[in-house]
Amino acid sequence: MLEISAIEAYYGNIRILKGVDLQVPEGSIVTLIGANGAGKTTTLRTITGALVPRSGRITFKGEDIIGWPLHKVARIGISMIPEGRAIFKKLTVEENLEMGALNRKDNEVKQDKERVMDRFPILRERLTQQAGNLSGGEQQMLAIARALMARPKLLLLDEPSMGLAPQIVADVFRVIKEINDQGTTVLLVEQNARQALKVAHYGYVMETGRIVLSGTAAALAQDPKVIEAYLGSR
Ligand code: ATP
Repeated sequence: MLEISAIEAYYGNIRILKGVDLQVPEGSIVTLIGANGAGKTTTLRTITGALVPRSGRITFKGEDIIGWPLHKVARIGISMIPEGRAIFKKLTVEENLEMGALNRKDNEVKQDKERVMDRFPILRERLTQQAGNLSGGEQQMLAIARALMARPKLLLLDEPSMGLAPQIVADVFRVIKEINDQGTTVLLVEQNARQALKVAHYGYVMETGRIVLSGTAAALAQDPKVIEAYLGSR
């Protein structure tokens, strides 16, 4: 579904991505793990169009999307939930959900709103509240719900577990799995490698702008290098 090949991307004169290859098959959950600053977020930004790579190819369903503006990338079915959720804190929960559907032209937005509220009952309870008053976990659920309102084919998630209590982290990963079971393809950037490799089918390990390892999530979780660098001894 998504194919990235030989991507090089810069911030100013600094080469951040040094030839990244990555594939996300339709229907899968693929995780991209690696230390802080490895270039994971930068990789996601090249997919959404927020950062245009200097060279390489990115295709989505066979179409070359490099150079497309953000709204056009969103319209073909790619949604991103950025690190730190980036919900609209001053708007109500309901308004946030509606913002997720801004790009849509069909008339099923109302039904989808009901559907996401069925999935996240807490959002129904808080519908008229300011989003900034939700707990961290609720805000992450709202960010996911808002992204689903765009009916994405491919959902990009940047560190969804960041800053959340362990119990909430488990909920977030369960929701990611459910969304995937219902047909949305997922590319998941995580520092929580243990959880990410549990939920994903396939994984890539990134170090300083390069993919250094890849394989099925099960194989990576057993790989001594991954265990030593990312899973610790617990
Ligand atoms: P994190 O877990 O911190 O999000 P990451 O793997 O996603 O890590 P990136 O955010 O992609 O890493 O950052 C890769 C490198 O690019 C880092 O060295 C970072 O300092 C640098 N960088 C990120 N954003 C910018 C920017 N806007 N301008 C200049 N350098 C940046």
